[in-house]
Amino acid sequence: MPRPLMMTPGPTEVHEEVRQAMARPLLNPDLDPDFFEFYRHAARKFARLIETDNEVLILSGEGILGLEAACASLIEPGDRVLCLDNGIFGRGFADFVRIYGGEPVFFTGDDRRPLDPDRLAEFLDKEHDFTLATLVHCETPSGVLNPVADLAPRLHARGILTVVDAVSSIGGEPFRADAWQVDVALGGSQKCLSAPPGLTLISLSDAARRRLADRRRPIASFYGDLSLWRDWYEQKWFPYTQPVSDLYALDAALDRRLADPDAPGRHRRLGEAVRQTLTAAGLELYPRAGWSHTVTAFCPPAGLSEADIRNELLRRHNILLAGAFDRLAGKVIRIGHMGENCREDKLFRTFRGLDQSLRSLGFIPAVSMAEAFARHLAE
Ligand SMILES: *Cc1c(COP(=O)(O)O)cnc(C)c1O
Repeated sequence: MPRPLMMTPGPTEVHEEVRQAMARPLLNPDLDPDFFEFYRHAARKFARLIETDNEVLILSGEGILGLEAACASLIEPGDRVLCLDNGIFGRGFADFVRIYGGEPVFFTGDDRRPLDPDRLAEFLDKEHDFTLATLVHCETPSGVLNPVADLAPRLHARGILTVVDAVSSIGGEPFRADAWQVDVALGGSQKCLSAPPGLTLISLSDAARRRLADRRRPIASFYGDLSLWRDWYEQKWFPYTQPVSDLYALDAALDRRLADPDAPGRHRRLGEAVRQTLTAAGLELYPRAGWSHTVTAFCPPAGLSEADIRNELLRRHNILLAGAFDRLAGKVIRIGHMGENCREDKLFRTFRGLDQSLRSLGFIPAVSMAEAFARHLAE
C-alpha cells in the first residue's frame, strides 16, 4: 500500500519541492554567517505573508510551543489574562496562563459560532484590567473562524496585548497582523504552510517587546523565553542550535505560498464547495456560522460512528481524515482542505472515497458527492 493521502487539518500534504529542500547540504547554524542571513530571510517571508513589519522568530518546536512561549514570556504571576473562548484551543490557553502564574478570565461564546465583537466590547466596558488577551483565529477542532479583524482592535483600544493563535489559518485565510493590531501572531509549519511539523512562527509587536524588556520577574522557562532572542542577529547567536533541514523545508514552503497569491481565493472556492457537497449529501456541518475555508468539521450521520467511517475510508481508499478530541471526541469528522490539501484533485478523490465508505456502511448520500463537488466548482 502506498502511504495514505493525508486530508487532515495538519499535518498536511507536503509538496515534493519542500520535501527535497530537506535534503540540501547543511550549514553550521551556530557558526556560519550565511545561516543567520538565511534564517532572517525566512522569517521575513513569514512577516510578508502576515503583512507585518514586526519582528518574526522561528522557534524549534511545533505549534504548541508558540502558545506556551507567548504565555511564558508575557505573563507575570498575578496577571489577569482574558481568554477568548469558543472552542478547545481558546479554552486550552487558560492552562498555559495558569502554568505561568496568571489568572485566566474567560469571555465565552458558542462553540458553533464565531465570537461576537460587539458582545466583547460590552464585556470590556465592565471589565478591562487585563494585561493580555488570548484568542484563536481558526478553531481547528470545530472549523469555526473568529473575526480577528474586529476582535483584536477592541482589545488594543483598551491597552490589552493580544496573542492570536492563527496556526491553522495563516496561509489559507487572509491574515493582516498590523492592520488588525495583533501584537503576537502564532503560526505553525504543518498546517496551511504545508511544511513538515516541527516549527513555530511568532511575530512580536513593539509593545510586546517592551513588555518583555520591562518584566519584573524572570521568565520561568528557557525554550519559551523570547527575551533570549533580543539581539540574536546583531550577536549572531541563537539560544539553541537550529534545526537546519526543517528550516530549509519551511523556507521552500513559504516560497511556494508567496508565489501563489490566489491561495486565499482557492481556499474560499474549495472550502465553499466542500460545505455545499456535504450539505447536499444530507450531512450536518458542525459550525452554524463562521465556517473556516481551511478545515470543515461535519457530524457523522445518525447511527454511524465517526471512527468506523474514517477506518473504512483509510482501509478501502487509503485516505486519512481526522476525528477530533476533548469535548468533540467522537462527534465530528474533519476534512483538512488547507495548504497543499486545497486542490481539486485531492478533494475529488476524498469525496469519491467518502461517498463509497458511507454507502458501504449503510448511509446513502442524497447526491453523488464527487459529482456534486465537481458541479459546485464549475458553477
Ligand atoms: C495545530 C494547532 C496548534 C498546534 O498544536 P498541535 O499539537 O499541532 O495540535 C495550535 N493551535 C491550533 C489552532 C492548531 O490548529
